[in-house]
Amino acid sequence: MRLKRAVALIGSALVVLIIFMIYSVKDLSEITGKKTPFIDFESLKLVNMENRIKQLERDLSQHGNEVQDIRIQIKNILLPNSSTHNSLKDSPADSRRFKSVMTDMLYESNCPIQLNFVPKTNIQMLEVYKRLKFDNPDGGAWKQGWKIEVDEKDWNRQNKLKVFVVPHSHNDPGWIKTVEEYYLTQTKHILSNMLVKLPEDPRRKFIWAEISYFSMWWEDLGEDEREVVKRLIRNNQLEIVTGGWVMNDEANSHWISTIQQLTEGHQWLQQNLNYTPQSGWSIDAFGMSATQPVLLKEMGLRNMLMQRVHYSVKKELASKQLLEFRWRQLWDGNGKTDMFTHMMPFYGYDVPHTCGPDPKICCQFDFKRLPGHGLHCPWKVPPQEINDKNVARRAELLLDQYRKKSKLFKTNVVLAPLGDDFRYDHPTEWDVQYNNYQKLFDHMNSNLKLNVQAQFGTLTDYFEALHKERKESDFPTLSGDFFTYADRDDHYWSGYYTSRPFYKRMDRILLSYIRAAETILTLAYLSGKPGSSWITDREVGLEKQLSDARKALSLFQHHDGITGTAKDHVVIDYGKKMLSALTACQHVIQHAAHILLSGKDAETPDKNALFYNVDDVRHSHDAIAERYQITIGPELRTKRIAIYNSLTFSREEVVTFHVSTPYVEVLDMKRRRIKCQISPIFEYGSTMSQTKYQLSFVADMPALGLVSYVINALWEYESPTETVHASIKIYNQYGDVQAPGGFSGIEVSPSASEFTLQNNRIAASFNNLGLLKALKIATNTIPVHLDFAKYGVRQTAERSGAYLFLPDGDAVPIQIENTIVNVIEGPIMSSVTVQLPYVRHIVTLYNSPGADSLGIEIENIVDIQKTSNFELVMRLSTNIKNSDEFFTDLNGYEVLKRKRFHKLPIQANYYPMPSMMYVEDKTTRLTVLTGSPLGTSSLREGQVEVMLDRRLNQDDNLGLGQAVLDNHPTKHIFRVIVEQKTHSCQAAVDEHPSGFPTLAAFVASQTLLNPFVRLLRTEDEDATSQPSYLSVQTEFGVDFVVATLRTGITIKGRDHVGFVLQRQFIDVCFSDRELLKRFPLSQGSVNVSGLLPTEVGSKLYKTSLSFLLMKNEIHIKGDLLMCPMEIQAFILQR
Ligand SMILES: [Zn+2]
Repeated sequence: MRLKRAVALIGSALVVLIIFMIYSVKDLSEITGKKTPFIDFESLKLVNMENRIKQLERDLSQHGNEVQDIRIQIKNILLPNSSTHNSLKDSPADSRRFKSVMTDMLYESNCPIQLNFVPKTNIQMLEVYKRLKFDNPDGGAWKQGWKIEVDEKDWNRQNKLKVFVVPHSHNDPGWIKTVEEYYLTQTKHILSNMLVKLPEDPRRKFIWAEISYFSMWWEDLGEDEREVVKRLIRNNQLEIVTGGWVMNDEANSHWISTIQQLTEGHQWLQQNLNYTPQSGWSIDAFGMSATQPVLLKEMGLRNMLMQRVHYSVKKELASKQLLEFRWRQLWDGNGKTDMFTHMMPFYGYDVPHTCGPDPKICCQFDFKRLPGHGLHCPWKVPPQEINDKNVARRAELLLDQYRKKSKLFKTNVVLAPLGDDFRYDHPTEWDVQYNNYQKLFDHMNSNLKLNVQAQFGTLTDYFEALHKERKESDFPTLSGDFFTYADRDDHYWSGYYTSRPFYKRMDRILLSYIRAAETILTLAYLSGKPGSSWITDREVGLEKQLSDARKALSLFQHHDGITGTAKDHVVIDYGKKMLSALTACQHVIQHAAHILLSGKDAETPDKNALFYNVDDVRHSHDAIAERYQITIGPELRTKRIAIYNSLTFSREEVVTFHVSTPYVEVLDMKRRRIKCQISPIFEYGSTMSQTKYQLSFVADMPALGLVSYVINALWEYESPTETVHASIKIYNQYGDVQAPGGFSGIEVSPSASEFTLQNNRIAASFNNLGLLKALKIATNTIPVHLDFAKYGVRQTAERSGAYLFLPDGDAVPIQIENTIVNVIEGPIMSSVTVQLPYVRHIVTLYNSPGADSLGIEIENIVDIQKTSNFELVMRLSTNIKNSDEFFTDLNGYEVLKRKRFHKLPIQANYYPMPSMMYVEDKTTRLTVLTGSPLGTSSLREGQVEVMLDRRLNQDDNLGLGQAVLDNHPTKHIFRVIVEQKTHSCQAAVDEHPSGFPTLAAFVASQTLLNPFVRLLRTEDEDATSQPSYLSVQTEFGVDFVVATLRTGITIKGRDHVGFVLQRQFIDVCFSDRELLKRFPLSQGSVNVSGLLPTEVGSKLYKTSLSFLLMKNEIHIKGDLLMCPMEIQAFILQR
């Protein structure tokens, strides 16, 4: 008895100790950038530690009362509604497991995520939208605001107005000109002038944002000039703001690409200037995403600024002095995600709209508009050169604007940006701006009764002065985002969510290639195989090609790149850069694949050697990819292929190849024959290719796995049972069709018919035009009616263009005549193909255990080249009672609730859909996943609408100066998933402004965006290859996303492996036990050594998101804990 008690006591003590240690480690991990955290730990964290011990004790007793605890917690989330039919009856054990998953995900005590109540913020953007009238009264001088009154007695000797005039030049890396054209004709001169003009007076300041340009210029500088730049930075005369490669778009960009573009800039700054940006500057992206503050904060930035926000929102926030706030994530219950944000109050970022509310006055202080400089003020009052005679009057006029502006903010510190697009390109502009302003400042500062301290400043100078005056907690908290942007009237910028969709799709394809190339190159580098040592060499290895590819992707994240708002020739330039990036990634992948699959005694390969062709052939920057045709037959029997899975969970999904014969077998990595399907390839109408066939099979791919398969040609008589030929039905076809070799018994019908296709999970019914009519899951049938419709352009002076969507009314359905409907059915996949006006529409049901079979896949090849002023949408109409609510994602990172407002026009109810949108009611959710960023809305209850392409015959007067007529046939891929609640719960309370993907939607989106890379071996005789390379020991769970896993992170001259992890919160209320088994979730921790081959002596460090700030070391074999929605970066040092 005594022994038992002793054991129990020691056991408990051990548990306490272990948990204590875990907490200590976790606690240490909070301390950043300190080499000796123990000192801080002692002094700063003692109180904290005490609290934690108390928490621990509470936790322990909680564990003791686990059952009771779970019961209480589940009670909070379970709806009393028991009428929800549970189609898959859970066993008690499953039910317990489910509940524990729910509890784990929702109640991790140290995590900020809060879903069982709506986290309190002072400003919630959806609530603001509900409240605002969106009227547009004329505010007078400040057209979109009101008349601001000031009393000069508000300031005195002790309480002076502090003015920071921040000179800036906005340089688009491609818009009217290509990045290179701009550089040569403008940007180069701007920066070169800076080098001369800033040192002339130490009081002069300047900020710069775009590192793509800065790095080009750097290459042109000599050592002495570089020293001047470094000195300007050291003196705090020059500040690099944000420090991204570009100022990224925030609507269409994927969060991983945003990290890429920021990291590209930050790494450059680190290596060349040893510089870490502190403040963010986004003055021209067309609407602001809540993902941006998360990423910037994790990169170590402390403040950010933004400009393009709906004028009604600006006015509302300005009227209550809420333009500066702590931007908080929707789900954040404790403020861990807060980012200090400044919103510019007025219409633009040019000088007339930045000094104060009256553009007519402010314009007079843009000295580039002095007579004779080629620019003038549209308000017809020109600036005056400042001299002794007029300085008093002019200073008071300007000061009045500064004072009025300050009334919109909580502090006495005023920010007055001084610049515009491509400003300061001529030395005289520097002289007139800096000299005239200095005279004004000198007068203001020496005239004590004005009670002002005015000066040039950097952006961070402004924020520091502000923080000195008021503590951060004095500022309100805000959650939500700032879409859809309107700059005036009903000019909603929702057209650019879809403009130039061909390149938007290309962006996602390039991102998937970069992720595949980065991960496989890292695996090859860490493998220790022959050839693994030189590949990451910057000069002679593959790193250079990958680095160039990253630059192309980063460049396209610019707010005139992925937005589709550049001139035709600039779009072509982006396209060509992305095409060569894609080709470079393919080359890197095939090379790394060869290294990984080669035997121990293989020789070091030549850098340019081609071992595999990637089965994704791109002949031109503006053409849809083609497939290789695998030509095999009795003479050349064998084709070796390899498949790579760039995701960190194992996948069993359908892959397809084009082969020249219908008689084949497929062998897996153990060279066993596996099931495969041969299907015809439809060319025009019901005509099928007589020379090529589609071969499909289910590839069984481990996490980050590289696996080889073999396709063998057979004799016709061999016909193994594993090879199945699809059955073919053709409706609405008069006359015969020629069956391809190997196929017989084609059903041809001259009449139309409804029909149903199904896989192991769902059945899809189609109407007699071959369009989706309903989806059936388990025993429930949900009507899902698919159609296409078009918007026209309204007949007013201002019309839709690259940016603006100004429709002429509701969308009009596209009339479809009798059309030939081609249906194939087989054990691995079934599909229907119809040629409609403007769209070749294919719906596929895969039959695999993988994420591709969780819904239907829609492929639309859209061609609207022969239309004019035409915008094409796809609609899905259901009976889901979503009322006026729908959900769209931000940058593929998070989901938020939208509301359709009748007080707003159609174009205002359109939102970006970077990766998904859904509508749901109490029981059913329909999710549309997209392979390209596009615009979306739900304009009627139960309906989802996605804009596919836009062709617009005019400019929309926002500076682009051209129509959008460069449409190309574009392939869009969507997955549609319908789910019913299998448990009567909901992830978040009704009023919560967040949404979350279901498990099925999340994995289906991940796999849609990261398809398997298909590699075809160039040498058919290949004796040395191994059948697979599998390095992952343990999988993380599908909720962990490896956003980046790459080589080439240089710290103190040494190369390291860097990786970025995100943990997604998943709404598990729609997950049945089968799904949870197929796609297991993590328990909130990962073990890096299970993912990567780590040598003895390897070290793991936590870092900031762009790998600039090294933080604490982490035990490489230990478990890393992460909260849902958290993103963390790490460095692996070898
Ligand atoms: Zn711009």
